[in-house]
Amino acid sequence: MRIQDRFFPQSQRVPAFASTPDAHWNSWIWQQQKRIKTIHDLRSLMPITDEEAAIIEASADHFHWAMTPYYASLIEPNNPQCPIRLQAIPSQPELTVHDYEMHDPLAEETHMPTPGLTHRYPDRVLLYSTHNCPVYCRHCTRKRKVANPATAHTNEDLKKAFTYIADHPEVRDVLISGGDPLSNSDGRLHFILSHLRAIPHIEIIRLCTRNIVTLPQRITPELCQMLQKFGPIYVNTHFNHPRECTREAFDAAALLMDIGHCVVSNQMVLLKGINDNAEIVKSLNQKLLLMRIRPYYILQCDMVSGLSHFRTSLQTGIDIIDALRGHTSGLAVPHYVVDLPGGGGKISLVPQYTVEKTDKKWTFRNYAHRHFTYIDSL
Ligand code: SF4
Repeated sequence: MRIQDRFFPQSQRVPAFASTPDAHWNSWIWQQQKRIKTIHDLRSLMPITDEEAAIIEASADHFHWAMTPYYASLIEPNNPQCPIRLQAIPSQPELTVHDYEMHDPLAEETHMPTPGLTHRYPDRVLLYSTHNCPVYCRHCTRKRKVANPATAHTNEDLKKAFTYIADHPEVRDVLISGGDPLSNSDGRLHFILSHLRAIPHIEIIRLCTRNIVTLPQRITPELCQMLQKFGPIYVNTHFNHPRECTREAFDAAALLMDIGHCVVSNQMVLLKGINDNAEIVKSLNQKLLLMRIRPYYILQCDMVSGLSHFRTSLQTGIDIIDALRGHTSGLAVPHYVVDLPGGGGKISLVPQYTVEKTDKKWTFRNYAHRHFTYIDSL
């Protein structure tokens, strides 16, 4: 039996969409058009109290909410703590903003030489291609601009960005982000990719997309055939919980790799009440490996306004790495990173393995807390 048949069941549609023709359900355009974004829509899928409805409506003033019927079908309707629900439906703590939180903790707007382009590191840039996403994740780092049509960048902005990149030969790596770049049409993506590939010093193109998770129908053979022409393309996706590893997601990832020739990695965001538990992270990463997706990062949740309820302690992330390293394959152990506020860049946090160091003699503890000595070279 194939891996996908053994481990990746098809998602179950919610009753409200049970009679939807497959041709509609499997169309990414239909999924986008039918996104759930009103209380009325939401109540057709799950029980919502009047109090919850009021909170959801109040939150829309701060950050819109919307989700695809596909992603909504992953929610356990009667579980208020469902990890999918917590990521997609606004809750009361979002409305609490602490004075140490920031709209733009990574200072992306500060290092913007031309509209829609952040140049913060020597050899790479971040290109914003759209304000739109299939699901507006409640933990989004860029909620200051995502979902807001006023922040969308025009093709003229993009052309200015291409000119800037062409004028900076030190830039060899472009991250295309947003919003979710796969919210663009194939035609607009072709426009972006062909301009970038025409710049001689561009080596690596990265696409940061959550569509594999929230709208796997978007990954079509036509899209992947187009991506293949512009490789190497590294796709960074964003699974946060094993419930998101469905058959649809498996098939979407396979298309990206087999037809698109993309390399796919995962950047999980560490989220309180969703995945701040080593067993959940291990299960997620083991499933990702079955999908041929490399668990790349566990990202500490950024200090974004209204996200304090999602943030765990730093020690929680270190403990998760400690519980993975040695207890499962190294392939399933990502880097745990903190993106430093103010644009300081990413640093990696690891458990303390050094017990003692005297001259050339180092004593370490292993995953089972047994001690071992290593004699260093000169
Ligand atoms: S898909 Fe990414 S950019 Fe879009 S809302 Fe989610 S985290 Fe933010």
